[in-house]
Amino acid sequence: MPSALDRQGMFVAPGDKLGVIEEFLPGQGTYVDSGEIRASRAGFLLLNLNDRKVTVFRPVEPKGANSIPKPGSIVVGEVSNTHQTYSLVRIWMVGHRHLANFFTGLLHISNVGLRVKNMFNVCRPGDILRAKVISVKNRIRHLSLAGKKLGVIYAFCTNCGSMLKAREDKKLICENCGSIERRKLASDYGAVVL
Ligand SMILES: [Zn+2]
Repeated sequence: MPSALDRQGMFVAPGDKLGVIEEFLPGQGTYVDSGEIRASRAGFLLLNLNDRKVTVFRPVEPKGANSIPKPGSIVVGEVSNTHQTYSLVRIWMVGHRHLANFFTGLLHISNVGLRVKNMFNVCRPGDILRAKVISVKNRIRHLSLAGKKLGVIYAFCTNCGSMLKAREDKKLICENCGSIERRKLASDYGAVVL
């Protein structure tokens, strides 16, 4: 059974084993049974490496038009694919509202807000990012990361899946395997409560 470290940001189902209490603290959306921490609801696994608390956060039913991402909306989502010049994002949050369904977002390298040649230095699959919707075409939300508050808010090590920590030089380090990676970070990287 893979531990929470290997499943950071991934979808879990009720009853899924997330770890043991010797290793992690049970947080919201979890319960403890015979020393094992399990998911009490379907959602996304988030392990805070600072206090080792495991939580499962979940999309809830949208209420009203504010739940549909439109130009100007600030959205949160998970990167599902990264290519040289663009990334696809599964949007599951608009403003502070969790959504029941995913919307598809597309982030092109020209809308990152930095001069970069490779999207892999901006965001990678599994990362969670905050972006602004700039247009909607064929039901695809085109996204921008231009601005201090926009960018990756949680990133996971490409080698081992652990959450990466931001260093003072803005590079990210994996405390588990020592790997160093780059992303376009939001100013509140690693400190966002979802
Ligand atoms: Zn690692």
